[in-house]
Amino acid sequence: MADLNAFQAWIADCSATVTEQSDHLTDLDRPIGDADHGSNVSRGLKACAELAQQQDFGSVDAYLKKVGMTLVSTVGGASGPLYGTFFLRLAAPLAATEDVGAREFGQALRAGVEGIVARGKAEAGDKTMYDAFAPALEAFDRSAAEGAGLAECLQDAARAAAEGRDATEAMIARKGRASYLGERSAGHLDPGATSATMLLEAAARTLG
Ligand code: ADP
Ligand code: MG
Repeated sequence: MADLNAFQAWIADCSATVTEQSDHLTDLDRPIGDADHGSNVSRGLKACAELAQQQDFGSVDAYLKKVGMTLVSTVGGASGPLYGTFFLRLAAPLAATEDVGAREFGQALRAGVEGIVARGKAEAGDKTMYDAFAPALEAFDRSAAEGAGLAECLQDAARAAAEGRDATEAMIARKGRASYLGERSAGHLDPGATSATMLLEAAARTLG
């Protein structure tokens, strides 16, 4: 079960991890993008991590909504609206839920990932963050259906995200800036799939 404190710890971990890995993410965005992914996402997550000191949220969904809006307003590029939508949609199914378990988080994760698709229109194999999120959601649901608790579901989701991230290396990008390179986008990991995996690994560390 995860409460508001756990969700705030999740965002703090996301911010610390992405800030520490910011140069790595930016380096991944150099050959197939414009070398700003690390700075984009770490700027946004830092602003999100500061929210907990500025305001008492009272509920998980109010907090996650504010995280989503903060990402939309502070992160530039493609990833800002995509991650912003992810957290906004994650919030909705958790309204009136104080202690989030595997079932509730599974519904929220599905809504969040569907939000990314609604906004970015990515399909599996397009070499985007969706290639990490989609297998993560599938793994989460599989574990939850077998009766696993939130911690185990999140660990399985994070592992599946990492495999999905690694599989983006061979893909040819069909969405976003990297798609301008066509076949030359192959042979590089997707930066967004890499940061998405970091967010899910942080969830496994903090929400279980
Ligand atoms: P920009 O490409 O505008 O510079 P970022 O560098 O912050 O934005 O983010 C790039 C990442 O955004 C890509 O690695 C990819 O994972 C993700 N991305 C781009 N377009 C889409 C899309 N249409 N759907 C899902 N993810 C996308
Ligand atoms: Mg970029």
